Amino acid sequence: MDASAAQLQANLDTIRTRIDAACRAAGRDPGEVRLLPVSKTVDAARLRLAHGIGLRELGENKVQEAMGKWEAMSDLADLRWVLIGHLQTNKAKYAARFASEFQALDSLRVAEALDAQLQKQGRALDVLVQVNTSGEATKFGLAPEEVDAFVKQLPAFSSLRVRGLMTLALFSEDQARVRPCFVRLRELRDRLRQDAPEGIAMDELSMGMSGDFELAIAEGATTVRVGTAIFGGRPTPDSAYWPGFAGNPGGAGDTR
Ligand SMILES: *Cc1c(COP(=O)(O)O)cnc(C)c1O
Repeated sequence: MDASAAQLQANLDTIRTRIDAACRAAGRDPGEVRLLPVSKTVDAARLRLAHGIGLRELGENKVQEAMGKWEAMSDLADLRWVLIGHLQTNKAKYAARFASEFQALDSLRVAEALDAQLQKQGRALDVLVQVNTSGEATKFGLAPEEVDAFVKQLPAFSSLRVRGLMTLALFSEDQARVRPCFVRLRELRDRLRQDAPEGIAMDELSMGMSGDFELAIAEGATTVRVGTAIFGGRPTPDSAYWPGFAGNPGGAGDTR
């Protein structure tokens, strides 16, 4: 194994150990928690190494960046691409081509556009509804009180397989401010479960990133999305060695 792959493996081992410990502390089975590696800004060559050490899912927040990597790695047919960032309606056609899962559904317009494109291509998509649990104006997602009515519309889109909810917590060192975001998502999921429409599953809770995944697991996360703790820090937007990158640099997870 080359040094770069060995480093990835070591990071991954550390994260898995921490996930196991967080599960044990919460009295949960580690098998209930999926680790979704977030590979935004990481180039295809490095992602091949990640595939080489066994990763079979990658989370990306920008559809065009993800599609470029998918094309560059199309020989790796067992790789599952998960879109975790806001999607514009006019880019639904790209997402429908290659994504296996979309975690940031937050409007009926996008649901409609995706469903139409998926029908054309004879594909289906696992979907999570993004909820803005922090109330920050800069974050995407539906307000918690909008989610019930929204979810009730989703059976109309037969190519979308609704699996649950996703959120980005407040970005803070202060657990007392982060935790309520996770609690809010879990309580919402539990409520929605009780009268979810036919065909709509409300099992998944995608919450927790490099800085807060243990807390998220304590509050019931079934998927944690971890980028920097696996792949290392991301370049900043004005970084000279990543000229095309115009996203948010930090772990804040702001996905625009
Ligand atoms: C970037 C990103 C993550 C991962 O963030 P890290 O802090 O690097 O682990 C998780 N979720 C979303 C939506 C993201 O955009």
